[in-house]
Amino acid sequence: MARIVMKFGGTSVAGPERIRHVSRLVTAEVRAGHEVAVVVSAMSGETNRLVRLVDELAADIINSDRIVGGAVEDEYDSVVASGEQVTSGLLAIALRRRGVRARSWLGWQIPLKTDMAHSKARIAEIENSAIGPSLRSGQVPVVAGFQGVNERGRISTLGRGGSDTSAVALAIALKADRCDIYTDVDGVYTTDPRIVPEARRLNRIAFEEMLELASLGTKVLQTRSVELAMHNNLSVRVLTSMAEVDDVNPGTLVCHEDEAMEERVVSGVAYSRDEARITLLRLADRPGMVAKVCKAMSDANIIVDMIVQGISRSDTVSNLTFTIDKHDLEKALAVLESNRDEIGHESLKSDSNVSKVSVVGIGMRSHTGVAQTMFEALAARNINIEVIATSEIKISVLIDSEYTELAVRALHGAFGLEVT
Ligand code: ADP
Ligand code: ASP
Ligand code: MG
Repeated sequence: MARIVMKFGGTSVAGPERIRHVSRLVTAEVRAGHEVAVVVSAMSGETNRLVRLVDELAADIINSDRIVGGAVEDEYDSVVASGEQVTSGLLAIALRRRGVRARSWLGWQIPLKTDMAHSKARIAEIENSAIGPSLRSGQVPVVAGFQGVNERGRISTLGRGGSDTSAVALAIALKADRCDIYTDVDGVYTTDPRIVPEARRLNRIAFEEMLELASLGTKVLQTRSVELAMHNNLSVRVLTSMAEVDDVNPGTLVCHEDEAMEERVVSGVAYSRDEARITLLRLADRPGMVAKVCKAMSDANIIVDMIVQGISRSDTVSNLTFTIDKHDLEKALAVLESNRDEIGHESLKSDSNVSKVSVVGIGMRSHTGVAQTMFEALAARNINIEVIATSEIKISVLIDSEYTELAVRALHGAFGLEVT
């Protein structure tokens, strides 16, 4: 007997028929003698619908400080968390109809405690004193993902895609043997199969690679869920919920690099369209200037990603280019404008029609030539590189967003990722 956490994403619980199918997959594990806890997302499209409703009443609450009448993030969480309440109840009903004892759990009932950061809260603790005994008694807890409760007793949410993190955290708290993330694709692919039909499913991928891919825009797992799994050495399986109970459904195992070793230099290509570029022109070229800009951004809670500094024609001034999340652009420009005397740049340019395309692989640590292959493939398609960033296991470039798909396809081909 194993203890298993099964997580089902939005498409997997998109309506009554899909929920019924999920109840069959869960029932099969229960009948096989396992202890099963389930985590569900809201029906696909539902969280977006709820966000739009909030937006209509409180324009841009998440990304702007200029809110008339004060912040409403706590109520945003209360509204957008509701989609998961519906699916947890519906799945519990479907399971009972199959003769399986089940009950729904909301974040505050467990409780799944978080910090105070509304709309992007981090899990602080999951109590298992209530859910643990229920699980041991043979009841299937169906947990609403994405949500928790903070120390003030308010509902919090874990950031978009956060049900993955709920599932991994629950698996750790319950000391589960397995954490299975069911979704609408049959595993982690070498790149988004919606863009490159030749993309290939990976049997295994190392935590570090999955972490880079997720943080560089691969939305199949939320970044924080991979981080948690890695720190707790919990292998996570990504697999499809569209298969039948008896189908072979190997999925992709996200695991420690020693178990993941496959002979490849690059494992995947990621892309993100959520980028914006800012260039400060003619900034004084002296110590402390970049620090000043970064401090202004971090004081405004804006994460700076890629940074390049280039000497301009004179040697007393330089240009500084950096990238941020495009949803923060307006706020960043306002912050820079209000700090203009302090920073002292002559002028400023920005562009939100940019994308970041990245190649990732732990094999890069011991192989040369990856950058050359990447840059040549882009050059052959006439794609201009605006900014470059590297780490030990990734190379990212910023390009005009118009060429995102072309670049992803070109790089997928250049590294031979479609070949088994
Ligand atoms: P869920 O609703 O189940 O959480 P998501 O939409 O969050 O599902 O994640 C699954 C989607 O991630 C897939 O439909 C796929 O288009 C996309 N995706 C992007 N990159 C990849 C990749 N490298 N491998 C697999 N899926 C990917
Ligand atoms: N329903 C939430 C979202 O759409 C959480 C999730 O799906 O993981 O972001
Ligand atoms: Mg998801």
